[in-house]
Parts: sequence; C-alpha cells; structure tokens
Amino acid sequence: MSTTKKTISVISPFYNEELGVEAFFARLSSVHAEVADRYDLEVIAINDGSKDNTLSELVNVRPRYPFLTIVDLSRNFGKEAALSAGLDYATGDVVIPIDSDLQHPPELILEMLAQWEAGFEVVLAKRVDRDTDRAIQKFSANSFYKLHNYISDIDIPADVGDYRLMDRKVVNALKALPENRRFMKGLFAWVGFKTTTVEYKVEPRLSGVTSFNTWKLWNFALEGITSFSSAPLRIWSYLGGAISLLSFLYALYLILKTVVFGIDTPGYASLMIAILFVGGIQLIGIGVLGEYLGRIFVETKRRPVYIVREVIGRG
Ligand code: UDP
Ligand code: MG
Repeated sequence: MSTTKKTISVISPFYNEELGVEAFFARLSSVHAEVADRYDLEVIAINDGSKDNTLSELVNVRPRYPFLTIVDLSRNFGKEAALSAGLDYATGDVVIPIDSDLQHPPELILEMLAQWEAGFEVVLAKRVDRDTDRAIQKFSANSFYKLHNYISDIDIPADVGDYRLMDRKVVNALKALPENRRFMKGLFAWVGFKTTTVEYKVEPRLSGVTSFNTWKLWNFALEGITSFSSAPLRIWSYLGGAISLLSFLYALYLILKTVVFGIDTPGYASLMIAILFVGGIQLIGIGVLGEYLGRIFVETKRRPVYIVREVIGRG
C-alpha cells in the first residue's frame, strides 16, 4: 500500500456570497483537519461573475487557506458552467462539488470518504428532508423527478443535488463529454459508475438569498428534460397519428351521411372548432420542435462553456 497522501478537491461555485465566504472556509478546514493525516485538501472556488465583493473576500481569506485556488469567470455563466470550470481545474483523486452557502454540510465529506475508501466511485448526498422548502417547491421537485425519469432513458435519483463525491475516473469521464449546455444532475447520472448514497439534512442558507426563482427552476426543469429525452418530440407522431385516424373516421361518416341523407345545412361551428383545435395542436408541436432546434443551434456553435478572467493561487 502506498503511503502517499490522496488529494480531495472541493469545487464550490460562488455567486454573490460575500457574507458567507469566511464561514465556509472555517467549516471546511475544520472538517479537513480531521483527515489531514491521510488527505491533502484543494479547494477550487469559482467566482461566477458575482456582483458583490465575493471575489475580494476570497482573495482576502487566501493567505489563511493556502489550499485555495480562485477561478474568476469573466461574467455570470450560471452554476452548471461554474461546476464545469471546477471539474476542469480540480486535480484531486476525489472531487466534491459543494454549494458555497453552507446548505450542504461539509461534515458529510468524512462519511463520503469512508464510502469511497470502501470502493464506491460515486457517493451521492441525498437530502432526507425538505423542511427549508415550501410545499409547492417540494411538490414541483417531486413531479419533475417523476416526469423526467418516466420519459428519459436515464434516471436521476430524487432529492440528490450536485453535492457528491466522485472518483477521478468519473471526473475524467465527465470532462470528456462534449456538450456545451450542461445539465449536471443528468450528466452525473449518465456517466454511471459504482454508486452509493449517504444522507443529510439540508441546512438553511447561512446568508444571502437563493438565485433560483420559480421561473429559473421551471426553465431548468425543461432543460433537464430536453437534454435527456426525446420523448416530447416523439409524442407528436403519436398525437398526429391519433388525430389523423379520428379525422378519417369522421370524414367517412360525413360522406356516408351525405350519400344516404343528402346535403344537410352546413356546420359552421363544428368546422371552426376542428380548424382551431388542430391549428393549436400544430403550433404546440412546432414549439417543441423549436425547443430542440434551439438546442442544436447552441451546440453547433461550439462555444466554450465558460471563460476565465484570471486564476489566482496556482503557479
Ligand atoms: N451559484 C452560481 N451561479 C449562479 C447561481 C448560483 O455559482 O448563477 C451558486 C451559489 O453561489 C451557490 C450554489 O450555486 O453556491 C447554489 O445556489 P443557490 O443557493 O442560490 O441555490 P439553491 O440552494 O437555492 O438551490
Ligand atoms: Mg443554496
């Protein structure tokens, strides 16, 4: 057995978290102290275009926490892109993405490491309660997982976020994925590997406010579904088939009726309803096509997922 220390890479996206920076590093380093004899720590803090003093706070604490590398993005690219940047800069044997607002208790890292040492390549942190969420949030999160897993080829485990431990093998697999639009929850699940779960209670946000409002979450859910399932596209073939069949039967009925009973007074109302109904259905269908076309459009441009302004703390 080798006696060299393994390295834990913690990657954490920071977006307007100036008030939480101190507390985050204090907690993280006291967790590391418990395993410092066996593990080195590396923290990649990605400043995702914060509009407050997050960056200068990070720079301020760096002398006290030499394990810190700051990756400053050129603007706000969103959490998914920030995590991709973190994966690219992490060098450790295990990589752990964690929210910087301390909603993910860092103490759980010790349990995750134990599972990794036991041979698991992915250790998911599963939240056992959603007490900090409103009822409507719980309901919509549950419905999302149900719908997503029903229509997609891969299952996203419910109540599992980005907080997890990944072996280097898993990280390399993720880095090799070519897509620009990165729905991390889905990609994490897609790459597979030997997986287990540890449980935690989600904590209330230490400071600041969440940057995910209902509209953002809704779009996020659409993103998840369109990046991992083509079911919304296929539905239209079936729907179109069903409507054609019904129209055909109705046409037969009309012809027979005309042949047998002669010409009736023209049915303006039924005609109008049929035209509007089918027109509406077609528009929805075109909208769904557009959704996927938009994804193809974005992907074909092959733009980078994020742009780095500066990396602080790496030679
Ligand atoms: N975050 C980010 N870029 C963004 C939005 C959020 O890097 O555009 C970070 C944020 O700093 C936090 C994590 O992503 O560390 C989770 O964000 P938040 O707490 O707002 O989401 P919630 O916990 O409510 O899902
Ligand atoms: Mg949060």
